[in-house]
Amino acid sequence: MDYQLYENLGIQKAVVDYGGEVEKSLKDRFERIDSLAEYNQAKVLYAFQKNRVDAMCLQSSTGYGYDDVGRDKLERVYADVFNTESALVRPQITCGTHALTIALSANLLPGDELLAPAGKPYDTLEEVIGIRDSKCSLKEYGVSYRQVDLLEDGGIDYENVKKAINEKTKLVAIQRSKGYQTRPTFSVKQIGELIKFVKEIKPSVIVMVDNCYGEFTEAIEPSEVGADMTVGSLIKNPGGGLAPIGGYIVGKREYIDRCGYRLTAPGLGHEVGATLGVLTRIYQGLFLAPTVTASALKGAIFAANLYERLGYEVVPNGNEERYDIIQAVKLRSEKAMCAFCRGIQYSAPVDSYVTPIPSDMPGYDSKVIMAAGVFVQGSSIELSADGPIREPFAVYFQGGLTYPHAKIGILRSLQELINDGIVSL
Ligand SMILES: *Cc1c(COP(=O)(O)O)cnc(C)c1O
Repeated sequence: MDYQLYENLGIQKAVVDYGGEVEKSLKDRFERIDSLAEYNQAKVLYAFQKNRVDAMCLQSSTGYGYDDVGRDKLERVYADVFNTESALVRPQITCGTHALTIALSANLLPGDELLAPAGKPYDTLEEVIGIRDSKCSLKEYGVSYRQVDLLEDGGIDYENVKKAINEKTKLVAIQRSKGYQTRPTFSVKQIGELIKFVKEIKPSVIVMVDNCYGEFTEAIEPSEVGADMTVGSLIKNPGGGLAPIGGYIVGKREYIDRCGYRLTAPGLGHEVGATLGVLTRIYQGLFLAPTVTASALKGAIFAANLYERLGYEVVPNGNEERYDIIQAVKLRSEKAMCAFCRGIQYSAPVDSYVTPIPSDMPGYDSKVIMAAGVFVQGSSIELSADGPIREPFAVYFQGGLTYPHAKIGILRSLQELINDGIVSL
């Protein structure tokens, strides 16, 4: 062990050794993650080959983007990876919230009701839906909203879900990942059970799953257990750290077609949309995504075990199965959150000299601290940490394009907590 190298990165010997002890106990878990990565790699590779991705596909279009074969084939590849009829995968989709907004607003009409059967959705969707009053929300367009909160133990309140489904219920939105909450993340299997339940009550209902952070953390995706639309961001897992922008919606053709019309214009739909030179990075990112996601999973498991050993509550805990790449660590104070995020930022390949501080963010209702020294701005498949400054003062740690980098970042976060006198080894 070359401790000097770690010293250069601001990490002392005691912290390196502490991390080494934690890591020793994780060998079997890491092996299982490697097997998962291999399975998902094979799945992605097969989708590339089946669709005959070739050098032509890496060319790109400008202007209207008519007949962009690379773009159209990319959508076939996504559809095959997720096992769906159709896909909309575009650089014009600016972020995950945008992709979700397209899926919702394309398929909900005035008088329809949106149901969230598994608790509050992701913060930014509150303004999309109109839970918090906002211009151009679904509420403004006459779409009503109903929510069934989770039970105390984090389980789904099936009885009240049943009661909430009515003649207006058109679309049911399920979020796989915990997001900025400390509830458990749902497995694809659990999502499948919930979908089956709502469809038994009302077969015509459209189920949309917010898949952000969940892609490639399991061998199956929500689209394979009955989700009609599965939605996510390319600057998270499926972009593999390379996609510079974009979002995806995969699912049944009739709903995805509508998403195309909503994204561009009625009548134009999927036919327009230039790719402006980003296709290679989107293809290559998808190709790398299974191993990049696996690295992030290992980083999350390492963080959970390290902080659990230090006496912090972590969600998921050190032993739990994982269905997304997010690791929550309840740090119990703003000061500790700031120290943790500093450690992540100071370990970054880009902007490592910057100190993150809490500030207001569009779409969030409390101050947020974010650490992200990343190649793609805001990318959260790259090593990053963030969290709203409010009880229980949890940081949400995610990413790491490589496991060694994630590990270094976590060690440095611990070092910052030690330096601030919050933790001692
Ligand atoms: C990140 C995320 C979103 C929103 O994605 P943005 O790209 O930040 O707009 C939505 N839902 C979940 C669960 C997320 O993790």
